[in-house]
Amino acid sequence: MDLFEYQARDIFEKHGVPVLGGVVATTPEEARAGAEELGGGTVVVKAQVKTGGRGKAGGVKLARSPEEAAAKAEEILGMDIKGHTVHRVMIAAGARIAEEYYFSVLLDRANRSYLAMCSVEGGMEIEQLAVERPEALAKVEVDPLVGIDAAKADEIVTAAGFADDVRGDVAAAIQKLWTVYLEEDATLVEVNPLVRTEDGAIVALDGKVTLDENAGFRHAEHDALEDKAAADPLEAKAKENDLNYVKLDGEVGIIGNGAGLVMSTLDVVAYAGEQHGGVKPANFLDIGGGASASVMAAGLDVILNDPQVKSVFVNVFGGITACDAVANGIVQALEILGAEANKPLVVRLDGNNVVEGRRILTEADHPLVTLAVTMDGGADAAAQAAAAAA
Ligand code: GDP
Ligand code: MN
Repeated sequence: MDLFEYQARDIFEKHGVPVLGGVVATTPEEARAGAEELGGGTVVVKAQVKTGGRGKAGGVKLARSPEEAAAKAEEILGMDIKGHTVHRVMIAAGARIAEEYYFSVLLDRANRSYLAMCSVEGGMEIEQLAVERPEALAKVEVDPLVGIDAAKADEIVTAAGFADDVRGDVAAAIQKLWTVYLEEDATLVEVNPLVRTEDGAIVALDGKVTLDENAGFRHAEHDALEDKAAADPLEAKAKENDLNYVKLDGEVGIIGNGAGLVMSTLDVVAYAGEQHGGVKPANFLDIGGGASASVMAAGLDVILNDPQVKSVFVNVFGGITACDAVANGIVQALEILGAEANKPLVVRLDGNNVVEGRRILTEADHPLVTLAVTMDGGADAAAQAAAAAA
């Protein structure tokens, strides 16, 4: 989960990383109040969107008074930055910047390790710097079992080539940023720019933090950081039920077990759809290994609530969870859903205990369910049903 800058700022502050005051505003009036709260002097009005390059897109503006802060907020709110609409701004205390540096620590999957990157030439051109003069961006491996201790922080500032008068303070800030990374279970902590102000203080002016959702069970407080308004309601519902769901644009709902099977089902349905007026898959939904009745009901519930869905193709390969259990799951799921189940369902089962699975579905004889023998046949039947209903 990526955080907004203001959320990263709050987390930095909690762990003792030097930051400046910041107040979130959703209207020009709140922006004015925020600027007053920060002392009435110069502030920076910053678009809060989960994408980089806000500065270049005009989403970061200096304001010399609360009135000007309101005016700049008016300009920035509603702005589109790389497809993200700005719904809120952060009013940040202004800093007199002498130098801009760069620091990040991230999960380095390929090396099964962490990687710290640091440069004395931070700021808005960091991507360009990384490409054109990679030697100016120091890369230092961080042993996950040791982390960034004083020695490692010293190694990082030396590799980046910091001047003697700042290296101590920068190293201290880097150690605090490591605490953020470790204690919050982040996979990325990036500060750009980390600045030296004219009076010599080291401050994190812009932060980007990605939290590891797999560690969410250790952080009940991270729940509140989720941008629930931005999430698609069906995706949110799927997430609540631990389903692996992605909404797509088509008309044929898809349920399968295993990501590989679901992916190939999408292809087969898209292909079959070409013969039926161009209907397409409506979603990706992997119900995983345990296709129990409750999981099946939750999956069907999500898919049937998508108004674009006209038919559903359930394509399950019985493995550890055998076909008879899946068939019972479907029958019970339809019972649980009752009248909410109102679209044709094509079911193709294969694998472990397939004969018993098919018998259960045949016997249940649900008016909405059609059995298919092959994956291609099932895809074709589901596409045809969707085209007929469209
Ligand atoms: P980004 O473009 O999305 O990474 O947004 P940043 O928060 O990094 O801001 C872009 C640039 O705006 C920074 O590199 C700074 O040069 C400038 N900036 C940000 N905050 C301040 C501030 O408080 N004072 C001044 N003078 N400049 C700032
Ligand atoms: Mn930045």
